[in-house]
Amino acid sequence: MIHFKQVSKLFAGKAVVRDLTLEMAQGEFTVLIGTSGSGKSTTLKMINRLVEHDQGEITFAGEPIEKFRVQDLRRRMGYAIQSIGLFPHWTVEENIATVPQLLKWPKAKIRDRVTELMALLHLDPAQFRQRYPHQLSGGQQQRVGVARALASDPEVLLMDEPFGALDPVTRGTLQQEVARIHQLTNRTIVLVTHDIDEALSLADRIVLLNDGQVIQHGTPLEMLTKPVTPFVRDFFGRSD
Ligand code: ADP
Ligand code: MG
Repeated sequence: MIHFKQVSKLFAGKAVVRDLTLEMAQGEFTVLIGTSGSGKSTTLKMINRLVEHDQGEITFAGEPIEKFRVQDLRRRMGYAIQSIGLFPHWTVEENIATVPQLLKWPKAKIRDRVTELMALLHLDPAQFRQRYPHQLSGGQQQRVGVARALASDPEVLLMDEPFGALDPVTRGTLQQEVARIHQLTNRTIVLVTHDIDEALSLADRIVLLNDGQVIQHGTPLEMLTKPVTPFVRDFFGRSD
């Protein structure tokens, strides 16, 4: 579905992603993990062209991503981030409906889709549809952010530390919801985190980045039981 071939990204002459080769299969849940500054967000943003890569090739559904119009690419890839970015003067319904509105879906279809997504994310439509973001808890805002990313039924869901700012209980609940969405819809998901437990519990495949390079990728079990370097062993073995 998404294929990186020897991809590099430079900022001010310095490579922050180096020679990255990766495949993300249709329906696979990939977690990019690594310490702060390891290049996770940059890697994710290269997929939907929020950041343009400098070297190598990235393909989506078999075509180089430059072949798609940026707006078409982004419609096919939902994007949810930690700092949510909900529009403060729009209701929950209007926020979730952002992309369907742009696509000029009929009103009734938008309304049905919003209802469906709110149910999927366990937000009671009767209670929350007309609320504004400031009338929601952090966890509820994150749910709206994920619902918005799913609104146009994108083939790919990209998430950058989507639960980063939440308390452990809410975080656990939302992790379960994302796992359930993955099972229900078999959507290709790429999630960035620095949380080891989150990576181990959600991923089909984990990619460990350090200093812009892939150190190891594999299933959670492989990462734990067959670390290729002491760095990998220490990373997954550390207690925090
Ligand atoms: P992570 O998400 O793993 O914390 P990032 O991909 O955000 O890492 O950043 C990787 C490196 O690239 C960091 O050193 C960061 O400072 C640098 N970087 C990211 N975005 C930019 C930018 N727009 N301009 C310059 N440097 C950047
Ligand atoms: Mg980041």
